Amino acid sequence: MTSKKSYGWRGKILEVDLTSAKIEEKELPENLKRDYIGGSGLNARLFYDLVKGNSTLDPLSPENPLIFGFGPVVGTAFPSATRFTVTAKSPLTRIFGDSNAGGYFAIKTKQAGYDHIIVKGRSTKPVALLVEKGKKPQLIDAVSLWGLDTYETDEEIEKLYGKDCESARIGPAGENLVRYANIFSGRKRVGANGRAGMGCIMGSKKLKAIIVKGEGTVPAARPKQLSELSKKYREIWGKGPGTAANSEYGTLILIAQIGAEVGVNNDQKKISPEQLESYDLEKFLSTYKDGKTACSRCPVGCSQKWKVEEGKFKGERGDKIEFGHYIHLGPLLGIFDFPTLFHLADITNRMGMDCTQFGWNLSMAMECFQRGILGSEATGGVELNWGDDEMVAQMIMSVAKREGFGNILAESIPEMIQKIGPESKPYGFHTKGMTFPYNRKGVLPMSLASSVGARGADHMKGHPFSALVGSREMLERILSGGMKITRC
Ligand code: SF4
Repeated sequence: MTSKKSYGWRGKILEVDLTSAKIEEKELPENLKRDYIGGSGLNARLFYDLVKGNSTLDPLSPENPLIFGFGPVVGTAFPSATRFTVTAKSPLTRIFGDSNAGGYFAIKTKQAGYDHIIVKGRSTKPVALLVEKGKKPQLIDAVSLWGLDTYETDEEIEKLYGKDCESARIGPAGENLVRYANIFSGRKRVGANGRAGMGCIMGSKKLKAIIVKGEGTVPAARPKQLSELSKKYREIWGKGPGTAANSEYGTLILIAQIGAEVGVNNDQKKISPEQLESYDLEKFLSTYKDGKTACSRCPVGCSQKWKVEEGKFKGERGDKIEFGHYIHLGPLLGIFDFPTLFHLADITNRMGMDCTQFGWNLSMAMECFQRGILGSEATGGVELNWGDDEMVAQMIMSVAKREGFGNILAESIPEMIQKIGPESKPYGFHTKGMTFPYNRKGVLPMSLASSVGARGADHMKGHPFSALVGSREMLERILSGGMKITRC
């Protein structure tokens, strides 16, 4: 029976020890709900309690806990309350790491009865955690899923557990401990916990997926007022200044807003008007857009689907393309057309890796190759030339499998510098081991936010959005009368 205290909350933490295969259900303490509210904040406190005193904790050791957090509004009638955070010590930065995603996985987990899932230990063979409302959670064999990409994995899960389940899963990049492997989740609307390498931690624990089944609504203390508030905010957001553009183009709208500031060839120069023209958003709408997907009750629906009907990639289609793909798999690598960008984005999505980190890692290596710091003897005979999409696709696969030169690209920038040599240092851009989102120097407020980001160069915590799409002159005035960010 639902007590008053459990409104919004389910009041339960699911704790799973993969070493002993022990699964326990624990009460979520009242003081933690009150003091930390939920989601990322409460995840951070749970993480702290589990690792305090262990400053040398190896991120890939069984002792590194992987914590999924679903806040108190998730699963209620409130619009867009669909997000969840995954927290662990990052294998990329070796400091506190967390990552957030939307979709439907969070809602299903709340419906199944949990506010947090803590995964500890390490399994000896691939497993998945199955969480069903009203049933005892169980670990199931996932040997048959191991090796499948993030989409194939979900297709198999759907065959085995039905259309009404959702999953958070890893691809080959997570299995092979790529330091920036991500977690993919959702089916109707795919979400990615992209940054900080949380998929790598799942892989280190041999946890291929968490599968959840649930139904119903998380009860609210005052449902009538919540319903009125939800209606009000749906209307406000539905008419918001950025809603129509976000709905039409998703995050690709940023191409129109700050696309001209994007760097080319590892940020050696700014994109030219002709190069920018090759990413014409009206062409995206008329030629490539193939619908969109939305998180639960969201009035925006920002996730864009695409299709290619002619040319080299004829017949390909996909359902997740973001501004981050554009910057880091497009101009940064010397690639200037939508179909090639979609093709490369789809491979990174399927392999389950963060396109931002991959793009900067590869572009650093490409600039080293251009300057003769790195030769083809070090890359297994592969020429790292700007704009060579087949080489980029090959490198994504090599990274996901940690094969050949991909084994070096699968690391953080500081580790790449160690392996390639000190001459490579001026061409690797990062904060605390995490590469920059957006353009390092063209978008000044984002460069500042990224430089001081607590989890590394980060566009999700410290997102000066109004400044980002506003006046550069204003920002330069604020920043000590004309501070410029220059190339290292
Ligand atoms: S705007 Fe996009 S990410 Fe946010 S809730 Fe809506 S569909 Fe999900």
